[in-house]
Amino acid sequence: MFLDRVKDLLAYETFNLVAQKRARGETVHSLAIGEPSFDTPAEIVRVAHQAMKRGETHYGPSYGTDEVRSAVAEKVRKRNRIKADIENTIFVTTKFAVYASLCSVARAGYEALVPDPGYYYSEPVILSGGRPVPYRLSKDFDLDLAEVRRKLTPRTRAIVINTPSNPCGKVLKKDLLQDLLALCQERSIRIISDESYADLVYEGRHVSVGSLESSPQTVMTLFSLSKSFAMTGWRAGYMTASVPLIKLVNRLMENTMTCFPQFIETASAYALRNCHDRTLEFRAELKRRRALIEKLMDDIPQLTYQKAEGAFYSFPKYRGKTPSRKLTKALIERYDVALLPGSIFGSQGEGHLRLSFAAAPETITSAMEGLSAYLRENR
Ligand code: PLP
Repeated sequence: MFLDRVKDLLAYETFNLVAQKRARGETVHSLAIGEPSFDTPAEIVRVAHQAMKRGETHYGPSYGTDEVRSAVAEKVRKRNRIKADIENTIFVTTKFAVYASLCSVARAGYEALVPDPGYYYSEPVILSGGRPVPYRLSKDFDLDLAEVRRKLTPRTRAIVINTPSNPCGKVLKKDLLQDLLALCQERSIRIISDESYADLVYEGRHVSVGSLESSPQTVMTLFSLSKSFAMTGWRAGYMTASVPLIKLVNRLMENTMTCFPQFIETASAYALRNCHDRTLEFRAELKRRRALIEKLMDDIPQLTYQKAEGAFYSFPKYRGKTPSRKLTKALIERYDVALLPGSIFGSQGEGHLRLSFAAAPETITSAMEGLSAYLRENR
């Protein structure tokens, strides 16, 4: 019913071009997709395999198994300092959790604030029956509280934040989160905090806004195993929120997906309890790749950028007036380099390119050579 108002995800324009070129046997140097080049650690795969062999191939509880929910509760208490118990958790694919959390706060004609530039939050707001209201980030991609205040109306029911952020690589600081929380508590607005990249902060510490309240009330926090454990294809994620909101999300699960696959939950519980060291290794490698891409960007005079504080994206601004979608199309067609155009992340993203440095170092190097050649030859 709402799908006729929802647009196709523009990132697929690029992903499809990459797939078509590869199907023709052509090489593409891609920094477009947001996933680590690493494989899932073998021990996690083994646990899933053993669980399947044991018969964990049936329907399971719609909230997730007790085992995975207790691993989640333990993990968020220990690492994110969110005072959540098992009842405050549900195991659900993170991208679906964005939509599900919006559905849980939705009312007819409601509004939700979404960051600009930011991840693909507008379409899920529409899908949940609401109106997305973009709030501009500051020049250095920070949350601007005055701008947020300006965008609030009596219809606002939620604000989506994302830290560390995709595509900007920004990490929000505790003081600002504290102020945002106070504002949202005062106005009875939910904060939907997408912390998919919480484990990938390169300097300083990740702060969960949910850790600033005594139990999950105002804040719904979304996490993912995709990036932390190189598990993008497993579709494993989880969220914490107040019990009434978790119950509503569960209602959506019961009426849509039924449940999440149990053998993936068993492997995810194992990952959450035992594989933090692997995440630290990934983070160290991603930090090296960040240094590589920044060194290569330093050599391209047409680019200016801010250091990514977290996640694994650079979001440089390029010189010139070519629209970013046009630029990235030409880049892939003529230079075999795939990047995402900044404009697909909101109107404030125009003039930027999103580069994932989770790609292998040799891919980063060849893609940046192509980008450099394009910018030299197409002034
Ligand atoms: N939120 C952000 C900011 C993301 O970048 C992504 C994936 O790239 C997601 C949510 C979705 O995560 P998942 O693929 O684990 O569902």
